Amino acid sequence: MSAEDFVLQDGSRIAVIGGGPAGSFFSIFALKMARMLGKELEITIYEPKDFTKDGPGGCNRCGGVISELLVQTLALEGINLPDSVVQRGINAYQLYTNYGTASIATPAHEKTIATVYRGGGPKGTIGSDKDSFDEFLLDMAVEEGAVHEKIRVDRVEYINGKPVLYSKDGELINADLLVGAFGINSTTPKIIEDLGIGYKRPDTAVTAMAELKYDSTVIAEHFGNAIHLFLLPIREIKFAAIIPKGTYISVCILGKTIDANIVNDFLENRVVKNALPQDVDYELMCRCLPKMNIRAPASGYADRVVMCGDAGSTRLFKDGLGAAYIMGKAAAKAAVLHGVSSTHFREHYLPVYKNIITDNLYGSCLYVVSDMYRNYPVLTKGMLAIVNDEQKKVDNPKKLSTVLWGMFTGNERYRNMFNVAMTVPLQAAFWREHAKILVGRG
Ligand SMILES: Cc1cc2nc3c(=O)[nH]c(=O)nc-3n(C[C@H](O)[C@H](O)[C@H](O)COP(=O)(O)OP(=O)(O)OC[C@H]3O[C@@H](n4cnc5c(N)ncnc54)[C@H](O)[C@@H]3O)c2cc1C
Repeated sequence: MSAEDFVLQDGSRIAVIGGGPAGSFFSIFALKMARMLGKELEITIYEPKDFTKDGPGGCNRCGGVISELLVQTLALEGINLPDSVVQRGINAYQLYTNYGTASIATPAHEKTIATVYRGGGPKGTIGSDKDSFDEFLLDMAVEEGAVHEKIRVDRVEYINGKPVLYSKDGELINADLLVGAFGINSTTPKIIEDLGIGYKRPDTAVTAMAELKYDSTVIAEHFGNAIHLFLLPIREIKFAAIIPKGTYISVCILGKTIDANIVNDFLENRVVKNALPQDVDYELMCRCLPKMNIRAPASGYADRVVMCGDAGSTRLFKDGLGAAYIMGKAAAKAAVLHGVSSTHFREHYLPVYKNIITDNLYGSCLYVVSDMYRNYPVLTKGMLAIVNDEQKKVDNPKKLSTVLWGMFTGNERYRNMFNVAMTVPLQAAFWREHAKILVGRG
């Protein structure tokens, strides 16, 4: 077959497995780009979930924090998040450690981080006037011309060099391109592993989400427009966050293997208990232990097959939604502007895929350092002293605050933050603070 045989034509059929952010972003951009070239593509998104439903059944479980960068980038793309989707705007982080707290205001002094629900909200959300982020994107893909089939794909075969998809009831489509946007929280990766194209599912960690219900005025007054971030010396937990929304707070705990006992221990921790409203009880409405992609598979494509979002490469411990946008758009660009052979994807998709993997290596180094800072009292105290000092001074460049902000919001590439963390003035400030603490003057 020649390269020409792999160029998408007017009427080419694309099957997208998964209508989460990666599948919807792919579809939106592929349809827009094809139209610019005077072509109409037939895109079918297979997604069995009803994102308007409350509880786990309608939800692609996540903290729902959309970084400032993603909010702004989407606006430039003409994708403006409606008020009905945004639960709360965020303009600060409150950092909690065993030795005190620090408040980090957004470096840009703009309230642009958005918090959303991926589905209809926690179990028991009744009569909410808020909408699901995933439903909003899926509707947008349908408005662009995609067809949404509420069907689960059960099997894929390669027949005459083309992917053929099946549901439990029989054949669905013989596609010119299969887009794997099925994430990592189902058994679907096995279907693609069994296809024999060299795909191997990403390495994953088990994380935790819990939704606690409070009165909305308690949330507004107590948590405000800040994400509350916990860097505590609990072995299993890398970091945890409380994300205020309308009448719930989302508790998000990240580590390698989180289980229900670790969630309970976290909620009973002295620092966490003190951070919650005193004398006000919450109702635990929803909890789950979703998987998180922590290492991408080496191969994210083959002839007429491309993986994007969590099924491929994503950003380590943060901004998975931003990565779904980047990878969905990159896959659409490679497929529509170039072609759908593995050579086309190697030349036009792999560089973006690898970029995220390389950036995550810098991220891994930063998390090793952050683990040390939460585990050793002298380092924790030094970090707090620097951040509090930076936040007090108006003209301070706020280097450590910027690194922490970027690390936990997803607003910056890890490589850039690594470079800031290594600058001489910041390193000097660390050594100064640690020396003060060691000689008992800090
Ligand atoms: C605890 C936790 C907190 C997180 N917090 C954040 C955060 O605050 N901000 C952020 O940006 N990212 C966050 N993430 C990451 C983010 O959730 C993911 O990166 C993002 O959901 C990836 O989108 P996706 O479309 O690739 O996959 P998903 O969102 O998982 O969507 C995959 C879709 O595919 C469908 N599907 C699966 N198999 C099939 C099949 N066989 N047939 C048809 N459909 C199928 C599923 O129903 C699902 O809707 C968090 C992740 C975790 C685990």
